[in-house]
Amino acid sequence: MAEETTFYGLVEDLEKYLEYQRDEGIQRLEVHRSVLEALAKEPEPEVVEEIVVEAAPIPTDFQSLEAIATYISTCTNCELCQERNCTVPGEGKAESPDIMFIGEGPGAEEDAQGRPFVGKAGQLLSKMIDAMGYSREDVFIGNVVKCRPPNNRKPVKEEMDLCLPYLRQQIGLIKPKIIVGLGGTAMEGLLGRPVSITRMRGVWQEYNGMKLMPTFHPSYLLRDPSKKKDAWADLKLVLAELGKEPPARK
Ligand code: SF4
Repeated sequence: MAEETTFYGLVEDLEKYLEYQRDEGIQRLEVHRSVLEALAKEPEPEVVEEIVVEAAPIPTDFQSLEAIATYISTCTNCELCQERNCTVPGEGKAESPDIMFIGEGPGAEEDAQGRPFVGKAGQLLSKMIDAMGYSREDVFIGNVVKCRPPNNRKPVKEEMDLCLPYLRQQIGLIKPKIIVGLGGTAMEGLLGRPVSITRMRGVWQEYNGMKLMPTFHPSYLLRDPSKKKDAWADLKLVLAELGKEPPARK
């Protein structure tokens, strides 16, 4: 599987990024004039060195999360392997936690540490988990892709599809009572189709017979704190489904 980096490829990536921002509710973006001028010119065809990454079939009979994590650590099934420092398989309570949180992919801090949600967005996720009456150790936290997309770009569908067998088997072994999908990209990866998280959040979905609650990604909540109340409403629905109430505020 190889993808040529071309002017048109970059334009396509930009288009996807803008669609993503739109789905996240962003209505205005500042763009420097030089960017618009560069986009208006079609460049000479460039010769690009092609790097071929062969996708190997992922085993379907992992017996433990450790075995999955070990396999992931040497996975080269998609181009995300090329710039990663650490793979990030996920962490937390491995046996039937009430909740499994799933984001789209690791960021810079996660890539450096090999742990999920340890940057600024992760700190907010920890606060959200705490507000629900849990600790990070009580839940499982993972991502759709296990390697950091360069420059924190959104993982593309092909990358998510190639990585999904790991997550699917993790979910099968962990058996969470409820899955919380963090952000539109994670939901697209899980459901295999485009979604608008703004419209879908707070509405129960199903993933392989399990209840799946979509809500905003913590990094989006950092950019737009006014949406925190919506995310909290979604998490309260999760607690209600578990027969629990949020603990009294300290
Ligand atoms: S993102 Fe997933 S499929 Fe791609 S190289 Fe990493 S572990 Fe393999």
